[in-house]
Amino acid sequence: MVTGGEPLRAESATAYPRRVHDIVIVGAGTAGCVIASRLTEDPDLSVLLLEAGPRTRKLETRIPAAFSRLYRTPLDWGDSTVPQEALDGREVVFPRGRMVGGSAAMNAMMVLRGHPADYDAWAAAGCPGWSWADVEPAFTRSLDGPFPLVEQRDRHVLSEAFVHAAQAVGIPFTEDLNGSDNAGVGYVRVSQRRGRRFGVAEGYLKPALRRPNLTVVTGALATRIFVEGGRVRGVGYRLHGEGAGDEEEAPASRDVVLCAGAIGSPHLLQLSGIGPREVLESVGVDVVHELSGVGRNLVDHLANGLLVRTEDVETLASAESVRNLLDWGIRGRGPLTSNLGEAAAFVRTRPDLPSPDLELVFVPVLFEDEGLKQPTEHGFTLAVVLLQPRSSGTVTLRSADPLDSPAIDPRYLTDPEGQDAGMLLHGLRLARRVVAQEPLSRFVSSELLPGAQAQTDDDLTAHLRALSQTLYHPAATCRMGTDPHAVVDPLLRVRGLDGLRIVDASVIPRLPSGHTNWPTVMIAERAAELIAAA
Ligand SMILES: Cc1cc2nc3c(=O)[nH]c(=O)nc-3n(C[C@H](O)[C@H](O)[C@H](O)COP(=O)(O)OP(=O)(O)OC[C@H]3O[C@@H](n4cnc5c(N)ncnc54)[C@H](O)[C@@H]3O)c2cc1C
Repeated sequence: MVTGGEPLRAESATAYPRRVHDIVIVGAGTAGCVIASRLTEDPDLSVLLLEAGPRTRKLETRIPAAFSRLYRTPLDWGDSTVPQEALDGREVVFPRGRMVGGSAAMNAMMVLRGHPADYDAWAAAGCPGWSWADVEPAFTRSLDGPFPLVEQRDRHVLSEAFVHAAQAVGIPFTEDLNGSDNAGVGYVRVSQRRGRRFGVAEGYLKPALRRPNLTVVTGALATRIFVEGGRVRGVGYRLHGEGAGDEEEAPASRDVVLCAGAIGSPHLLQLSGIGPREVLESVGVDVVHELSGVGRNLVDHLANGLLVRTEDVETLASAESVRNLLDWGIRGRGPLTSNLGEAAAFVRTRPDLPSPDLELVFVPVLFEDEGLKQPTEHGFTLAVVLLQPRSSGTVTLRSADPLDSPAIDPRYLTDPEGQDAGMLLHGLRLARRVVAQEPLSRFVSSELLPGAQAQTDDDLTAHLRALSQTLYHPAATCRMGTDPHAVVDPLLRVRGLDGLRIVDASVIPRLPSGHTNWPTVMIAERAAELIAAA
């Protein structure tokens, strides 16, 4: 059943029956869709899923190439970071989905889980049960229907040229960027079906909506977690458009599971008085349970790169046409099926590293102004991504009002040794070497940004400061572990409280040398097992 402020069916939000559910889940994003679906396979378990956004059929969520059109719409939380000191004081655009499907309903669909060594590093960092051998079955299980991993249907000629050019500088070709060693250059597999986005909302949640033991309420903003005597009793929420006094309560007899994402989960914990004392007291929130790690350790994949003007080739800049829309609508084919990030290279900057630390993402269109500007000329983007950032930041309350967005401060490029910036400079030079190779070079007209005149480290550093942007992978703000600053234990239970788990990208202890969506699916698959076994 789905009901809510923006109901899918005729039921109105106020008609929603107030009863006690076994499990209350907050957030119907990547993790929330997976876990709601898996838990309700057991008909004896009743589950309530609360989601702040609507269930939407908006075309931009279906057409792969259109995802950036969702930025700064009501389906995006519309955040920016606080001014980033090392990025010329810029407030970096920070999209995250606010709808059923969450960020997976607006992401670039790139399915890249990283290297097996990434997960062995999780286990070694105090997360027993999360080594590669432990997590690999959960990745495999997700592929069994709910989370397809397919080839691009109509990849762009420029993406093929990139894959050849990268080999010309010595990056070996790999068939499988999710293989036992993900290093190399290759084509990115995507979560699509017949040329349309096919994410967790379609693969996991939709089939589960028929089950009588699942209730989904959309337009429901969770505003606090109720704690009594060290045990979590339920979640307070406001329905879409209702005022401050109209808080509903969703009691949980077993567990509350936070799946509100790497920004939403620490925000909700802090609003509820669970977090670092000084953060809570600074905005007048009573301390219910002091937990120093909540909202700390924010890490993200920062991206920079080259924007290159092309000639003699039609890029995705002209993809939006009636002909292409028909081709997409009727046959699920053509340039609109592109996820933009069609090809990638994963590189170790030192041979002794256990996993790649630098990524190049090839995009057959100019990705300008952090994705907010639609391209007006032909070109491509070769993004350089810092996979293992040393800089980390915070998510903290700006006020005790749940309608106020939290302060997001990733503190990009602030590591004291400057290794993060150094790595991106290295990546920019590597990207230039790739672009200079045949067959990619034959399409190049000129380097638009940073531009051929930018050659010294100072020039390139100025480019980093002026144009770095997020690759949208915030994580670790409710880090899993066994040390005093960990927020959840390796069974994903909030330390020191009963009846509360966190299951989303916020528990990731260290970013994988891949992207974050499939790892989050894996975390939720494992969490469903843990909850069922408890
Ligand atoms: C533009 C973009 C492109 C990306 N591209 C890729 C990619 O190509 N490949 C990849 O692997 N990863 C990609 N990612 C990252 C990936 O999608 C995320 O890491 C993943 O979706 C995180 O899942 P999550 O469950 O932690 O959070 P989310 O999917 O963000 O889900 C959180 C949900 O909780 C809801 N919520 C939050 N607070 C509340 C509240 N108080 N009350 C009720 N509901 C609430 C939100 O509305 C949302 O639906 C991208 C992300 C973005 C934004």
